[in-house]
Amino acid sequence: MANLNIDSVKSRTFDAIVIGSGMSGGWAAKELTGKGLKTLVLERGRDVKHLKDYPTTNLYPWEFPHHGVIPTEVQEANPIVNRCYAFGEDAAHFFVKDKEHPYVQEKPFDWIRGYQVGGKSLLWARQTQRWSDFDFEGPARDGFAVDWPIRYSDLAPWYSYVEKFAGISGNRDGIAELPDGEFLPAFPLNAVEDYFSKHVKKSYQNRHVISARCAHLSKPNPIHLEQGRGQCQERNLCQRGCPFGGYFSANSSTIPWALKSGLCTLRPFSVVESIIYDEKLGKATGVRIIDTNTKQAIEYFADVIFVNAAALNTNLVLLNSTSNRFPNGLGNDSGVLGKYVAFHNYSAHISAEYDGFKEWTTDGRNPAGGGYIPRFRNVYKQETNFLRGYAAGFSAYRRGTDNSDGIGQTLKDNLAKKELGNWGVGSHMMGETIPKESNYVTLDKSQKDQWGVPLLKISVDYDDNDEKMKKDYIEQMTEMFTSAGFKNIRAESDHRAPGLDIHEMGGVRMGNDPKTSMLDKWNRLHACKNVYVTDGASMTSTSCQNPSLTYMAMTARSVDHAVSEMKKGNI
Ligand SMILES: Cc1cc2nc3c(=O)[nH]c(=O)nc-3n(C[C@H](O)[C@H](O)[C@H](O)COP(=O)(O)OP(=O)(O)OC[C@H]3O[C@@H](n4cnc5c(N)ncnc54)[C@H](O)[C@@H]3O)c2cc1C
Ligand code: SF4
Repeated sequence: MANLNIDSVKSRTFDAIVIGSGMSGGWAAKELTGKGLKTLVLERGRDVKHLKDYPTTNLYPWEFPHHGVIPTEVQEANPIVNRCYAFGEDAAHFFVKDKEHPYVQEKPFDWIRGYQVGGKSLLWARQTQRWSDFDFEGPARDGFAVDWPIRYSDLAPWYSYVEKFAGISGNRDGIAELPDGEFLPAFPLNAVEDYFSKHVKKSYQNRHVISARCAHLSKPNPIHLEQGRGQCQERNLCQRGCPFGGYFSANSSTIPWALKSGLCTLRPFSVVESIIYDEKLGKATGVRIIDTNTKQAIEYFADVIFVNAAALNTNLVLLNSTSNRFPNGLGNDSGVLGKYVAFHNYSAHISAEYDGFKEWTTDGRNPAGGGYIPRFRNVYKQETNFLRGYAAGFSAYRRGTDNSDGIGQTLKDNLAKKELGNWGVGSHMMGETIPKESNYVTLDKSQKDQWGVPLLKISVDYDDNDEKMKKDYIEQMTEMFTSAGFKNIRAESDHRAPGLDIHEMGGVRMGNDPKTSMLDKWNRLHACKNVYVTDGASMTSTSCQNPSLTYMAMTARSVDHAVSEMKKGNI
C-alpha cells in the first residue's frame, strides 16, 4: 500500500498541486503562489537550477568532445529525438532519449520531450505570437471542430499580463490576424530580409514579412531585472540554458519567482501516475505519484489541481485517472478524451539565393531568427481548396565560400582565402492541422513503463488538407521568391512524421457543450470542477501561430478564476 511509513497526510496536503514544471506549469506555480496558495509542483524529471545546471553554456566549440556533433552510436540509438534540429551535443542533456521513455506508435509520430524542471522551456525557439479571433472563431466558421468557448478578447488582457513578465521582443505591426502585444524592442531584420519585407508589402495585399516576435530581453524592464535576468547578449546559444536569463524559460523566470514566495514546494523525480477522485465529495482530492528514485507510491492532496504535463502527457495522466464514476478517464463523460489531437505541419521549406546587397553582410546572430510571415490564406474569406492556413519563417544569411583545391601550401592558402558568396534565403512552413476524431491517443493495454504507468499509444496522421496546404505554401512562396528576384529556388517537402514540429495539441479540448468537449471556458473539467488543464491538451484547434504564449496566458487566466472560485467557496 502507498503511504505507509511516510509523512502524515497533513504534511502532504497543499492548497494547490501543479503537475509539470515547464512552460505552463511554471506559470501555474507563479500565479498560485502569487495569490497566496501553498502549492506543490510535481515534476517527473530532475531539477535544473538556473545558472547552476547549464553545463555547456560557456563552452567554446572546440571544448566539446565531438565538436558539437552527436556521436553516430548515440544518433543510431535515438532515431526519434535525433531528428529534432536542436538535438546537438550542447543541448542533448535536456532531451528525453528514445529508450528511456518508450511510447507506442500506432502510426509514426516523433514525440520530442524534455523531462526536467523547466520542461521544454529550456529548449524552445522562443517564437511568441498571439492568436487572434481568426483563430478562435475558425472552428465556428469552418465547422472543422467544436466552437471555442472563448474569443480573443477573453485572452487579450492575459496575453499582456504574461508578455510584460516574460519579455517579448517585437514591433507593433498593426496586423489584425496577428495582434500586437506588450513589446520590448524588436531585433531588426537584416538587409535582405528588409528588402523582401518591403517587396512583399509593395507587391501583395495582406501579406507581411515582419521581425519575428521572440521571448528575449532585448531591453529589460525593472520587472525582468527583479527576476535576476539581464539583457540578451545575442549569443544564440539559448538551447544550452542562458546564463544571462536573456530568454524566457520557467527555470530563469516563473519557477524561481514561485520559490521566492516561500509558498512553493518543488518535488522533482515525481511521476504523477493519476489524479485521485473522491466519489462522495464529487471532486478530485489529490494525486498519486511514483518517486522515480525509490519507486514508492505517494499520495498528495489539495483543493485544486492544475494539469500542465504537456499536451500528450496530460492526456496520459487523465486517461490513467479512472474510478467508478469515471471508468474511461477523469472527466471523460463525453468520450472525447484523447481525441481530436492536432499539431503543426512543418514539412515544407524553400531556399534560394540573392545576388544583390553584396556590400552588406551579417554576423548572423539574431536570436529571434529573422522574419515571420503571418498567415495570409483563408483569413478574411475561404479562398483555397483547403481549410485554415499557414505562417512561415523567413531569414537571409551570407556565408563564406570554401575553396579546398590544391595540396600543401596551395591548399592552405585557398582555405584561408574565404570569400563571401551570394546571400542565401530560406523559409519554412508552419501549417495548422485540423483536429479530427481519428487522430487520437490511448493507453496501451499491456505495456507499462518502469514505474508501472501504461505506455501512451499515439495514432496521429496527416490528411488530404495538409497535402493541399503544403502544395499551396510551395506555390505561393515560389511565386513570392521569384517576384523578389531570388534565384536557384529549391522547394522541398520532407515527409517527416507528425510531431517533429513539437506543437502537439488537443485531446482534452475546451468547448461549451460537455457532451462534445472536456473543459469549460475557464479550462476546467466540465465534470470535475477543481481540476484545470491549461497546456496544449486544452486547445480546441491549433492556429498556425506558435502555441506557448497562449498556454501561458490561459494558465494565468485560469489560476485567477480558480482562486476567485476558491474564495467564493465554490471549489
Ligand atoms: C526545439 C524546440 C523548439 C520549440 N520552439 C518553440 C517556439 O519557437 N515557440 C513555441 O511557442 N513553442 C516552441 N516549442 C514548444 C514549447 O517548448 C512547448 O509548447 C511548451 O514547452 C509546452 O509547455 P508545457 O508546459 O505544456 O510543457 P513542457 O514545457 O514540456 O513541460 C511539461 C513538464 O511536465 C513534466 N511531466 C510530464 N508528465 C509528467 C507526469 N506524469 N508527472 C510529473 N511531471 C510530468 C515534464 O517532465 C515537463 O517538465 C519548442 C519546443 C522544442 C523542443
Ligand atoms: S541569444 Fe540571448 S538568450 Fe540566447 S543565449 Fe545568448 S544571451 Fe542568452
